[in-house]
Amino acid sequence: MKIFLTGGSGQVGYELRRSLSLFGKVIAPNRSELNLQDLDAVNRFLNDTVPDLIVNAAAWTAVDKAEEEHEAAFILNAALPGVLANYAARNNIWLIHYSSDYVYPGIGKEPWKETDITAPLSVYGRSKLKGDNNIASSGCNYLIYRTSWVYSARGNNFMKTMMKVAAAQELMNIVNDQWGAPTPARLIADVTAQALGRISQSVLPNPGVYHLAPRGETNWHEFAASIFTLARNAGVKLELEELKGITTTQYPTPARRPLNSRLVLEKIENELGITMPDWYGQLNLTLDEYLSLNSK
Ligand code: NDP
Repeated sequence: MKIFLTGGSGQVGYELRRSLSLFGKVIAPNRSELNLQDLDAVNRFLNDTVPDLIVNAAAWTAVDKAEEEHEAAFILNAALPGVLANYAARNNIWLIHYSSDYVYPGIGKEPWKETDITAPLSVYGRSKLKGDNNIASSGCNYLIYRTSWVYSARGNNFMKTMMKVAAAQELMNIVNDQWGAPTPARLIADVTAQALGRISQSVLPNPGVYHLAPRGETNWHEFAASIFTLARNAGVKLELEELKGITTTQYPTPARRPLNSRLVLEKIENELGITMPDWYGQLNLTLDEYLSLNSK
């Protein structure tokens, strides 16, 4: 199987390069080899490569910057998935794509189901929703994994920022009223490989949207506190003395964040016959990996 992977240098893409390689040749051009803002170039690349499967891990993930740079965010997050989906439909191949908790309105306390209403609060959220809709209307076989709070031992993410800041600062203020589940990129890649195992054995999954996150819920303040507890337990010395909880209104950002990013996981668990692991255990593993990478 020839797999075309976009975003292979990103958090999720990096892990996918490992997990997808069990299923065939992974073709993952970097930005200088294929600029994904150039949709004609993407079409040419598809026609030249003739993949058997497309996995789209590329995205415009600069949430605040998207408020200013609408067009670029929409090309990457909405038009590109449409181009990939149309190719997949024409050639009868599967498309696997990643989307976001930011497509939901973020109100209330109940976890979102895949069938719930969408009402993004930001340009990024709107661009991701348009991408989902472009795929759904293309007629291709697709899996869209909506995930939340992605982090990893590599790339830019909250866990790594917390570790860097806590090594240098005595006081930190972190938002404590946004709820969700931090999702390691590696978990996303492993679950994607499960689904791919089915496709490669022609035990075809039901196409559609699936939530993909660990079990349980936390807020950013509690997530940060857990990072620091686990790091200290592992012998890391931090300058941090006080971690204060603040509200979202005390920490204004250009893009509005959802307060409720909780996701119901029943659909993916039933589809793949798996139980998603809990977020805390996943943090333990991911932080271990980060610490071993950074102790060298
Ligand atoms: P990253 O920001 O880590 O990676 C994005 C990838 O897209 C990089 O490989 C980047 O390449 C590539 N890319 C962006 N623009 C271009 C371009 N013009 N040409 C070529 N490549 C480009 O994203 P994540 O791994 O964190 O996200 C994966 C998926 O998960 C995305 O769909 C995202 O929307 C979704 N998601 C992410 C969340 C998060 O918290 N990060 C939360 C919920 C969902 P380069 O390295 O060259 O910049």
